[in-house]
Amino acid sequence: MSDTQFDLLVVGPGSGGLASAFRAAKHGAKVGLIEGGALGGTCVNVGCVPKKAMWYAAEAAEQIRLAQSYGFKLSVGTLDWAHFVAQREAYIKRIHQSYIRRLAEAGISRIAGRGRLVGAGQVEVAGVAYSAEHIILATGARATHLDLPGGELAIDSDGFFALSAQPKRVVLIGSGYIAVELAGVFAALGSEVTVVARGGRLLSHFDCDLGMALAEHLGAHGIRVLTGARTERIFKDDKGLCLEFAGGEQVGGFDAVIQAVGRQPNSDDLGLEHSAVRTDAQGHVIVDQWQNTDQNGVYALGDLTGPIALTPVAIVQGRKLADRLFNGDEQARFVAENVPTVVFSHPPVATVGLTEEAAIQAHGVDQVRSYRIRFRPMQWSLASADAGQSFMKMVCVGNEQRVVGLHLLGPGVDEMMQGFAVAVKMGATKADFDATVAIHPTSSEEVVLFN
Ligand SMILES: Cc1cc2nc3c(=O)[nH]c(=O)nc-3n(C[C@H](O)[C@H](O)[C@H](O)COP(=O)(O)OP(=O)(O)OC[C@H]3O[C@@H](n4cnc5c(N)ncnc54)[C@H](O)[C@@H]3O)c2cc1C
Repeated sequence: MSDTQFDLLVVGPGSGGLASAFRAAKHGAKVGLIEGGALGGTCVNVGCVPKKAMWYAAEAAEQIRLAQSYGFKLSVGTLDWAHFVAQREAYIKRIHQSYIRRLAEAGISRIAGRGRLVGAGQVEVAGVAYSAEHIILATGARATHLDLPGGELAIDSDGFFALSAQPKRVVLIGSGYIAVELAGVFAALGSEVTVVARGGRLLSHFDCDLGMALAEHLGAHGIRVLTGARTERIFKDDKGLCLEFAGGEQVGGFDAVIQAVGRQPNSDDLGLEHSAVRTDAQGHVIVDQWQNTDQNGVYALGDLTGPIALTPVAIVQGRKLADRLFNGDEQARFVAENVPTVVFSHPPVATVGLTEEAAIQAHGVDQVRSYRIRFRPMQWSLASADAGQSFMKMVCVGNEQRVVGLHLLGPGVDEMMQGFAVAVKMGATKADFDATVAIHPTSSEEVVLFN
């Protein structure tokens, strides 16, 4: 095989692309990885990893506040933003170095540049045509930008990670997980924060009780949440950046406007017109449950395909596809059920399975029973008798009360959910949860004590 001929070409070096490349190489395939962006893609460079780093910094501030209320003589002080960002980026650099070493060890060829399909089994990068029997498209997604007057005054989540200093007065446009996560970081680190949601609630893709419970916590953290506010214009006056909403109302005095209004797939410059690959109305590449596109030998995965835009999903899709193509595992595929996920808000939110609404839609209202509990977690109660509350909800279906959804909010739920997700994935019933002896005193014990 020549230098431009491969068994597999992977377009995109993000979570899904790397996972498929490594797995295919492990099975003996000759793999070329086309890198149109930094190794690790969104997750490592401008997503999960730097976001979680900022969450840790914010969490440290929250813990100092809690310690103060216990009687420690401490002050939160201010985060040296530039110092912490340097530490964060050094950590990311170490991840890059680890990938570079592992790619070399795996014998994967790195091809720098953006890839475009140019014909059957062919991808062009910087004027060179590469060929392979199998081509995986894993080019991810990018932030959607508001198309309105003054839109250029707003930054997106990439711009957030590029900030070299902490803005003191911030407005976030959006109500999804990225908006509430960044709002929590800023508020915990001492910025004045406003969240502007077009609809009536936060986290509208999650169980409705979670969004409401989170809104209470944001309020308690001093975050101003404006719902039903459709931004029509961004402008600057002598006090700072301002938003104008439909109806003419204005809010202003901001140092930064951050838009977190969704993400769109990177499918527009992929040369799809040279193939039978189809996209949906939002530009997601259409695939079947095996990641096959309509073009023989071309596959797609991860954020490029939607609808579950999470790193572990892209990774599983990539690994399963490589197992199917290069290890003869014909049944290998990603199953899009009971995918657990965490929103790194303050406090965090964790969820797996169906929302109550989705369960009712799928099984009928008579078949669904939900259990809820609110309680003051001990570490907060020690600080104050009227501290904020954790919220937990279990959604069950049928006479056997199979647990089809679990929705948690409160300190520690981010680390709690993974284990419970195993039980839900295995089809556990409420009786199975009830039969599990509680670990006391913890917050997680509430999940086996619903009544
Ligand atoms: C702020 C933020 C926070 C997030 N937090 C989490 C989290 O906590 N947990 C979680 O699970 N997920 C999180 N995500 C989502 C997660 O980052 C994505 O689901 C994941 O990165 C998708 O992986 P992917 O391989 O599909 O695409 P990506 O990781 O986006 O990788 C695609 C790569 O392909 C490159 N590329 C694009 N076009 C071309 C081309 N033509 N040729 C070659 N290369 C190209 C891109 O530059 C990029 O490097 C977050 C996302 C954001 C934005």
